[in-house]
Amino acid sequence: MEPEEILPRQSFNSMKIMVDQAPAIPHEDESSLDKNSASAEHEHWMGEAILQARIAAEQGEVPVGAVLIEAGKLIGSGFNQPIMRHDATAHAEIVALRAASASKQNYRLPATILYVTIEPCTMCVGALIHARVDLLVFGAREPRAGAVVSQNKLLDSQHYNHKLSYLEGVLAAQCSALVQAFFKAKRGVNRSTD
Ligand SMILES: [Zn+2]
Repeated sequence: MEPEEILPRQSFNSMKIMVDQAPAIPHEDESSLDKNSASAEHEHWMGEAILQARIAAEQGEVPVGAVLIEAGKLIGSGFNQPIMRHDATAHAEIVALRAASASKQNYRLPATILYVTIEPCTMCVGALIHARVDLLVFGAREPRAGAVVSQNKLLDSQHYNHKLSYLEGVLAAQCSALVQAFFKAKRGVNRSTD
């Protein structure tokens, strides 16, 4: 990826962010500065989730990655690994939650943000609510099994006793390109062995 315009702002010094990967700022007014600061942080952490997704792909698993962030620090990460773990629940989000819960010694993870490359399924949305995660940020939609905006809109339901907010579309093209490349390569392998 080509390095983009450097952000001349103090707020980035305190964040674990690669300045040369930060996006260009189209506007200079205050509100858009705040917005861009937030979106640069979201892109940074989604970049970490993408690194996890790449590990999944290297292991022959569908490339989905997740990281859990608390107060600007990564407290858990995971990649999709049901095949290698013989575990249908080993989705990236669950793996990241388990890692964070183990390190915090707490099954509840309030005031955290979960970044995942692909829209979560019903199981993972449920787990995020049980864990009391505050905000879900996902990259690309999952039209077949997505439970946030695609097949179901679970987080729009009012009956849960915990409110989980969500934000979608962060680095969506990169996130979905990983999955598409994975399945394309898989189809190519299958064809060559026919
Ligand atoms: Zn899932």
